[in-house]
Amino acid sequence: MDDITSNLARVRAQLVEACRRCGRDPDQVRLVAVSKKKPASAIGVALAAGQRLFGESYVQECVAKIDAVPGRVEWHFIGALQSNKVKYLRGRVAMIHSVDRLSLAEEIDRQWSKLDDRVDILLQVNLGEEETKSGTTAAGVIKLVRKVALLPHLRIRGLMALPPWEEDPEMVRPYFRQLRELAAEIDSLDLPQVAMDELSMGMSHDYQVAIEEGSTLVRIGTAIFGDR
Ligand SMILES: *Cc1c(COP(=O)(O)O)cnc(C)c1O
Repeated sequence: MDDITSNLARVRAQLVEACRRCGRDPDQVRLVAVSKKKPASAIGVALAAGQRLFGESYVQECVAKIDAVPGRVEWHFIGALQSNKVKYLRGRVAMIHSVDRLSLAEEIDRQWSKLDDRVDILLQVNLGEEETKSGTTAAGVIKLVRKVALLPHLRIRGLMALPPWEEDPEMVRPYFRQLRELAAEIDSLDLPQVAMDELSMGMSHDYQVAIEEGSTLVRIGTAIFGDR
C-alpha cells in the first residue's frame, strides 16, 4: 500500500515531464487512477495522496466502491457497458468513456432524464478494429456523433480509444494520432452540443506517448496500484 503513494508521485512526475517535452500545460492532462479489481482501501491510500479522479470498468464493482469511499471523489466509468446496467450508474459517475453505440447513448439519456440532469460522455473508437474490444469504427463514429448529439441529457466531450497493445509504445503512436485527427474532423463539423476537448487515451505503459499526441485523460491502473 505504501507503494501506491510513491507510484502516484512517480506517475505524476512523468506526466509533467511528458508535458514539458511537448510544450503542453500539465493542467490540461488529467490522471484517471484506474482502481478496478483493487480494494477500496487502495483508493483510500490514493485519496490521501491527493488523487481525486478514479476510473472503474465493472458496474457492480464501481457502485460498491462509490458507496465505500466517501468524500470528494470524481468517478469515471471506463469499461464496456451493457444498456441494462446503466441505471446503476445514474447520477453516480461524472463521465462515461465507453459509449460506442446509439442504443447505449439512448439508455444513458433516458436514465439521466429522470434526474433532469446531463452526464458527460466520450465516444469510444476501436481504432485497431479488434474483435475483442468494444468501440465503433473510425468511419462509424462520424455517423454516431450526429445521432448522439441530439440526445438532451448527455454532453459529448470527446473521444476515447483503447488501441492494440504493443510492446514498444512508439508503435501505438499512430493510433493516438488517428484519434486526435478524428476529433479534429468531428470538431470541424460544428455540431451543436458537441465539444471535442477531451481525448481519453494512454494507459500505464504508453501514456507518455499518448500525452505527446494530445491526450487529456490518461487512464492508469497498474503503474499506480500494481499488477491485477
Ligand atoms: C484497466 C484499464 C485501464 C488501465 O490499464 P493499465 O494498463 O493497468 O494502466 C485503462 N483503460 C481501460 C478501459 C481499462 O479497462
